[in-house]
Amino acid sequence: MMHARNPLTGGLDHVFEPANPDEVAAEARRLRAAQPRWEALGPDGRAAVLLRWADAVEAQADAITEALSVDTGRRKIARIEVDGLPRTIRRWAERGPALLAALESRDRQSAHPTVTITTRHSAYPLFGAIAPWNFPVVLSTIDLVPALMAGCAALVKPSEVTPRFVEPLRASVDAVPELAEVLAFVLGGPDTGQALIAQVDYLCFTGSVPTGRKVAEAAARAFIPANLELGGKDPMIVLASADPVYAAQVALRASVVASGQACQSIERVYVAREIAAPFLDTLVHIAEAAAAQTGPFIFARQGNIVQAQIDAAVAAGATVLTGGRVEDRGGGRFLAPTVITGVTPDTALMREETFGPVIPVTVFDTVAEAVALANDSGFGLGAAVLAGTAEEAEAVGAQLEAGAISINDGALTSMVWDAENTSRKWSGLGPSRMGDSGLTRFLRSQALIRQNGAPLPLAAYAEDGP
Ligand code: NAD
Repeated sequence: MMHARNPLTGGLDHVFEPANPDEVAAEARRLRAAQPRWEALGPDGRAAVLLRWADAVEAQADAITEALSVDTGRRKIARIEVDGLPRTIRRWAERGPALLAALESRDRQSAHPTVTITTRHSAYPLFGAIAPWNFPVVLSTIDLVPALMAGCAALVKPSEVTPRFVEPLRASVDAVPELAEVLAFVLGGPDTGQALIAQVDYLCFTGSVPTGRKVAEAAARAFIPANLELGGKDPMIVLASADPVYAAQVALRASVVASGQACQSIERVYVAREIAAPFLDTLVHIAEAAAAQTGPFIFARQGNIVQAQIDAAVAAGATVLTGGRVEDRGGGRFLAPTVITGVTPDTALMREETFGPVIPVTVFDTVAEAVALANDSGFGLGAAVLAGTAEEAEAVGAQLEAGAISINDGALTSMVWDAENTSRKWSGLGPSRMGDSGLTRFLRSQALIRQNGAPLPLAAYAEDGP
């Protein structure tokens, strides 16, 4: 038996049975048996089924949102997550057939004069996903939908921290029988995750770096490709030409949305000395005004991690300008948006993922110094640059070691999903989940290499002798 905690009350008010390895294997067998029929439907046939799923999700949207808001302790973001799923499904159902058709080639001339090539594509039969708790619906489905469109069957394990949304989401799948044959959700923790890795042909993992390493090791043993989408420590550089008020508004939103429990959160801000004072004044003012609007920590222990990082930074000489104390309210754990200055680069607050609404602000004198500080990180998920013009911001952004750079805004990858980007350093491994490669990565190519002339005789390779 596993218990899930309610992030608003602290109560362990939800009990569920994790799937054991035999149950995971049985689900995998069932899905594998149905996958050839799914793939044989072809891109248009699969798109038609997926469009019916989008309608079914809409029919269940209130029930999924209700369960998800208990899972996460947030109502508005739960609604946004659930409303986004039918849009994601329709976007791939629309884009998928054209994308798949464009990949097919017939009888292309090879570099060898008498040989032509045809390339066929087939999906990895069984796709698997392991998801985290911070955006449970988005991150359980972001890779799943293009995998289904590609022709895979799919087995998904959401986080054991946020399991309640799965039942009403399953009801939407059950409303579309062709889909229910090839899509299953299993609940459970690390053991269920390991059992899933042993069954699937292609894995997408979203989660922390330490778990990502364990997952990658298990995938290597199972000899399957694993796409890892891991943590971040995204920097934002505010150049002297930027409007300090606009920049402060962007920094606050990009750092504290979802109480900072987002991989693409801005977790370090570097501001030019020329505008540091008005930037900080505004940031502190609007951070205080937003104090009542932040939701709870979904995972109780995250509150301890964030508090420990703040305390260690303060012990090393940093100054908290606002916020800074994780509070217990009615069983939930909350932290008001926190602005902190004078944080030294070697503290955990600057080196490790915080996953809380904390904005460490560092003042810089030269652009070269800002770029060096921003790049001084083990992570390379995203970054942001604000300047008076897009050109100036882009010139600095191009020097940053990160997969996606937001120009004159922050954390744009939370909204823009059609820009391919490859995570750097510890932030991930494998092809981009965004853009067209989000789908094409699930295809294997098979080359039919046709000899149209006379095959070479063995004599063509005969050695002349000693
Ligand atoms: P986590 O790594 O603790 O857990 C993620 C998932 O892995 C859960 O489903 C968990 O049950 C499973 N798991 C745990 N141990 C496992 C094991 N040994 N084998 C197989 N599966 C195992 O992550 P979390 O705390 O749930 O999520 C927060 C993390 O996710 C943060 O680091 C955040 O940055 C990251 N994240 C990354 C992205 C991205 O796209 N890069 C997006 C959102 C969150």
